[in-house]
Amino acid sequence: MNLRKKFIIFMGPIGSGKDTQAAILAPKIGYTIFKSTQALEEKFRNTKPEDPDYEDMIKEKNMWDNGILLTPHWVAGVVNEAVQKLVDSGVKGIIFSGSPRTLPEAEQEIPKLESFGGKDAIVLFKLHVSGGESMKRNSLRLFCQKNSHPIDPEVAKTNPSICPEDGGKVIRRTLDNPDVIKVRLGEFEQRTVPAIEYVEKRGIESINIPGENSIQGVADDVWKELSKYTLND
Ligand SMILES: [Zn+2]
Repeated sequence: MNLRKKFIIFMGPIGSGKDTQAAILAPKIGYTIFKSTQALEEKFRNTKPEDPDYEDMIKEKNMWDNGILLTPHWVAGVVNEAVQKLVDSGVKGIIFSGSPRTLPEAEQEIPKLESFGGKDAIVLFKLHVSGGESMKRNSLRLFCQKNSHPIDPEVAKTNPSICPEDGGKVIRRTLDNPDVIKVRLGEFEQRTVPAIEYVEKRGIESINIPGENSIQGVADDVWKELSKYTLND
């Protein structure tokens, strides 16, 4: 499938299925998944003492190690650098899962994406789930230890200890305790919703997807919407 949308952004609160949907969609259309945490970890690892931004990196790394939210402008710089590298390497398209996370990030990152193909090359999918559903899902969140992908709780009901895809051991993620989830839901409302509003105000296409359906149901809804952007060539 050849799409007019080269940049696909999934946004939604914790437990809305962003990572899961990105993981389902990417192989279907041959796009690369972009994770800001991965880009940040690479930045921490690869910046050398002789690099001009070394001191800034050390400052941010200390914040990261102490669980303090990083400076949004710095994060956006790292993201834009990593996205530029991906585009230069000739990727077919990029799927963003939970990035940009804040308004200042969006203000730097969205114009960068527009510079590659205009607003028309970007689409935002907003995955909607209620706070209650998010809490419920996160306390049930199961992962495959072997290949670290999420496991559908529905599927896990039939055999809760073995991954149906690759036979890996099924584990529960430790960070998903109710207090952490509450903090992250609050952060989404205060910091990420303004980023979503900014994207919409710029005139970028934004599509609401009900996120409380089954994983496959949500994937089908996303696919139906994406099919509208197919190019014939
Ligand atoms: Zn697995």
